[in-house]
Amino acid sequence: MNHQLAPGLHPDTLAVRQSVPRSQYGEHSEALYLTSSFVQPDAATAARRFAGEEDGYTYSRTANPTVTAFEQRLAALEGTDSAVATSSGMSAILLLCLGLLKAGDHVVCSQSMFGSTMRLIGTEFARFGVQSTFVPQTDASAWQAAMRPETRLLFAETPTNPLTDLCDIQALADIAHAAGVLLAVDNCFASPALQRPTAFGADLVIHSGTKFLDGQGRVMAGAVCGPRALIDNILAPLIRSAGMNLSPFNAWVVLKGMETLSIRMKAQSATTLTLAQWLEAHPAVARVYYPGLPSHPQHALAMRQQSGLGGAVLAFDVRASDAVDARSRSFHVIDSTRVCSITANLGDTKTTITHPASTSHGRLSEAQRQAAGIGQGLIRVAVGLEYIDDLKIDLARGLDTLP
Ligand SMILES: *Cc1c(COP(=O)(O)O)cnc(C)c1O
Repeated sequence: MNHQLAPGLHPDTLAVRQSVPRSQYGEHSEALYLTSSFVQPDAATAARRFAGEEDGYTYSRTANPTVTAFEQRLAALEGTDSAVATSSGMSAILLLCLGLLKAGDHVVCSQSMFGSTMRLIGTEFARFGVQSTFVPQTDASAWQAAMRPETRLLFAETPTNPLTDLCDIQALADIAHAAGVLLAVDNCFASPALQRPTAFGADLVIHSGTKFLDGQGRVMAGAVCGPRALIDNILAPLIRSAGMNLSPFNAWVVLKGMETLSIRMKAQSATTLTLAQWLEAHPAVARVYYPGLPSHPQHALAMRQQSGLGGAVLAFDVRASDAVDARSRSFHVIDSTRVCSITANLGDTKTTITHPASTSHGRLSEAQRQAAGIGQGLIRVAVGLEYIDDLKIDLARGLDTLP
């Protein structure tokens, strides 16, 4: 929409330069159009705009200039034709499924996806006759084996929360395309600053703007990115009826957050790698899960797929004799921190620390948790922008004083 932009600009440039045209006031920072509706010059123009025969804003459930700015900036970063914004990451996944699936269809997903994604697809959509199969994240042959004639969509999330397992996006795209179906990738954890799923063949990219895109833990937002034929012709018109549109205020907050996405992701990844190396050498730590470490089983894939960076989330197991001991030891480490926040959010400038087995994965049975590899000694750290030594000291306070 900004016709002065030269073609072929780097995503770092687009992150600050891709914007809507300025208003008559010439504001330098993108304006926030906090309005539910738009005044029409006359009845005939209104009729053409409502019929979709003429461009022009009518009502913010359908489109809003600040939301358009967010969509265009995210599409520029993901390298897709188009993007459609939603009120949260979950509503982006709801929109994807509502727009692409019908009764009798089948979806293949990873068994270690975000918990609400698994419930939405595995339980809620099952009520409407959509079947799903959940397969091991890292095993492309399991995805292949799950394909059925009714399969319409493969849906992956890479890396996963909290164990940082990866999918080989290109391998899954090849499986999807050989069957003539679509691959969608949830790109929350790596963000387009590290990983562009469409460069490896994915058709659609899902975002929770709540995480790294905002980057400061302020608002909820989501989006689906992809080709114009799917986004502009199928998913965006569906929002008009389904109503999971993004608020202009939240769009504006995330739009401004995305200007610093690339430098935040690089800085937070660098700190996370240093912290992961330090944890790996600590005698009280049994194992560290971080794609940036050579010890990660998919390190080579991570380096290829994530621009040589591991991202800003790691997990580690505290050394313990049994599950009861592991739980009390990991609680001791978490409760000894004074810098890290004990909260479930991630992708913030503030480092957060959680015990997945009793929080995000607390509703699973012990057997399900075992299968998912989420033990009582597991701690997840989503690393922010604090000084590295302060984070080491914060974790060492608990790790060095374990009974
Ligand atoms: C948080 C998250 C979501 C859901 O996003 P919300 O904005 O919280 O609705 C989806 N996928 C992943 C990987 C997430 O981390």
